[in-house]
Amino acid sequence: MFDLSTRNIQFLSGVGPQRAAILSKELKIYSLHDLLHYFPYKYMDRSHIYRISEIDGNMPYLQLKGRIQWFELFGEGKHKRLVAHFADETGSIDLIWFHGIKYITGKYKLHQEYILFGKPNFFKGKINIAHPDIDNVSDVVLPTMGMQPYYHTTEKMKRSLLNSHAIGKMMSTVVKQLQEPLPETLSTKIIADYRLMSLTEALRNIHFPQNPDSLKKAQYRLKFEELFYIQLNILKYATDRRQKYRGAVFDTVGNLFHTFYHQNLPFQLTDAQKRVLKEIRKDVGSGQQMNRLLQGDVGSGKTLVALMSMLIALDNNFQACLIAPTEILANQHYETITNLLKGMNIRVELLTGSIRGKKRKVILSGLLTKEISILIGTHAVMEDTVHFLSLGLVVIDEQHRFGVAQRARLWYKNVQPPHVLVMTATPIPRTLAMTVYGDLDVSIIDELPPGRKPINTIHLFGNRKESLYRFIHQQIDKGRQVYIVYPLIKESEKIDLKNLEEGFVHIREEFPEFKVCKVHGKMNSAEKEEQMQAFIEGKAQIMVATTVIEVGVNVPNASVMVIENAERFGLSQLHQLRGRVGRGAEQSHCILATNYKLAEETRKRLEIMVQTNDGFEIAEADLRLRGPGDLEGTQQSGIAFDLKIADLIRDSQLLQQVRDIAQTIINTDPTGTNPENEALWERLRTLRKRNVNWAAIS
Ligand code: ADP
Ligand code: MG
Repeated sequence: MFDLSTRNIQFLSGVGPQRAAILSKELKIYSLHDLLHYFPYKYMDRSHIYRISEIDGNMPYLQLKGRIQWFELFGEGKHKRLVAHFADETGSIDLIWFHGIKYITGKYKLHQEYILFGKPNFFKGKINIAHPDIDNVSDVVLPTMGMQPYYHTTEKMKRSLLNSHAIGKMMSTVVKQLQEPLPETLSTKIIADYRLMSLTEALRNIHFPQNPDSLKKAQYRLKFEELFYIQLNILKYATDRRQKYRGAVFDTVGNLFHTFYHQNLPFQLTDAQKRVLKEIRKDVGSGQQMNRLLQGDVGSGKTLVALMSMLIALDNNFQACLIAPTEILANQHYETITNLLKGMNIRVELLTGSIRGKKRKVILSGLLTKEISILIGTHAVMEDTVHFLSLGLVVIDEQHRFGVAQRARLWYKNVQPPHVLVMTATPIPRTLAMTVYGDLDVSIIDELPPGRKPINTIHLFGNRKESLYRFIHQQIDKGRQVYIVYPLIKESEKIDLKNLEEGFVHIREEFPEFKVCKVHGKMNSAEKEEQMQAFIEGKAQIMVATTVIEVGVNVPNASVMVIENAERFGLSQLHQLRGRVGRGAEQSHCILATNYKLAEETRKRLEIMVQTNDGFEIAEADLRLRGPGDLEGTQQSGIAFDLKIADLIRDSQLLQQVRDIAQTIINTDPTGTNPENEALWERLRTLRKRNVNWAAIS
């Protein structure tokens, strides 16, 4: 048996150092193993050879067999092109190249028979094929038998003529060398139980399928393996962590919790809030460290659950801390929570980046003496200088802004790691959650507090502002407040800020009788705070803002959200922004203002927003439209989402299945000593070594 991962791609025939460098740079292909795991994205039937007399300019990719009669060069410099006259017994067409000319004329001989593959175009009354793939008749072995694999390549690769065809050729060379069976890492039992095609067969067939059925089996086998190791990794990580870290036991629900519940709680908890609190209580009483993800749509009342969980920590003589992704949000949590705890004699403090000097010192020492019971803050809390005497619970709000590494730092704030509750309002489709947060237990608040009316969402084209302004006027006359949001995207921050400033001036002119406030990320926190406060207290009727208000901001009296240039926001962002309204009992409205010209995908995004208020539905749609790589949360999640073959939506059933299999293996072979699984654990170790991030999913 040979180890393909130690075979450098450079020594494959037809590759060499130059191409090897490009392959490693562009596709991270270093070894034969890497190459074999670079899968085609589609296949095309190449069993048929057309005659030139049969083709017209509207046909898809096809094959011809014939000879080059002569070459001709046209143009100069950039406009240089090479034309070859290619003929079979029925006629002739032009082949055209715009680059790689020297290589082509050096490589292909006149009057020799070739098989050519390309897409015919009709140009100036003649049919031509640009940049065709050309093979010696004797070289075309595998592809002519049927399905030809297609590989994604980059611009850089194409410039060096490393196109799909060239990759296919390399692949064919490697596949032909695959004589001996490759070592399996999945156990014989798994392979037998799930009737998996052998790895060698799978790799052979994924590139050069013998028939559609063997292609299917190959795909299944490779997807199985890919998803299996991801799940094994996450679940093993979670199991190890559970064993390593015992959690503080919160076994009493005491005074503070009860006092709050009976005296301070301004409303009834929803059934969902009650259920989640029970789940949390069970976790923190179990003696194991809690790692729980709390999902609840915007406005579902997660803050209250967080607060009551913190009170349980306090009742058991521990401190608690709540971390928010922005200063605005931390401030607001601080306000909300101190308000809710009025009269209870619990010291709550706020720690953000802008709290410095003496004030900060006082807080730090209060944490060490335990005079401070609850700390609310931003990631400033994560800094190494912040220590608690006995931190029992950390709540992380709006998780998608926190990276894995940041979360891991919490572990070191105590001898014993605190319980962790991660809250997110960006619902994550189940399959994604299983992968990204696969080691966290999940609680879901699937119920909004009573009396909420679904937000009415409309899509408005840019020039229909008059009716919008009239509407805003009416709403403010009724006592409501209005948000107007402008996009702020990093690359063009200056232009965006200009938009916002102009918008601000314009809105002030449009509504001279109202007070308009303004918040954006470039303001210092005192200014931001002042502007926010004006809006919260109802002194300002309109707030012009960037997405800094995206998460968590809670002003129940605001009932109109206008999103300018809505085409520039992603679905989850739009949903977050919309979630700023609909928090009171009044009917709320969200207006998505866009340009006329919209890309198809953008139009779909806006349609979804108009159709549904359900965060889960939106998240699913988002995943479908954009793929997991772009979803918020996935970039920082550690798993880079370079799934090579599996698809989190289409393969969700398989994902669940392999997760169960992985869990069974961990349960039945907890010490990893069963010889049957030796290769499997070894494979996991290799994967973890290779991708540091991948190993650190938490
Ligand atoms: P989110 O889940 O988006 O963080 P919040 O915790 O900010 O939601 O809660 C949204 C609003 O709902 C707040 O004004 C809060 O006071 C209110 N709220 C929370 N729970 C309830 C409840 N059980 N009944 C009525 N209102 C509630
Ligand atoms: Mg919140």
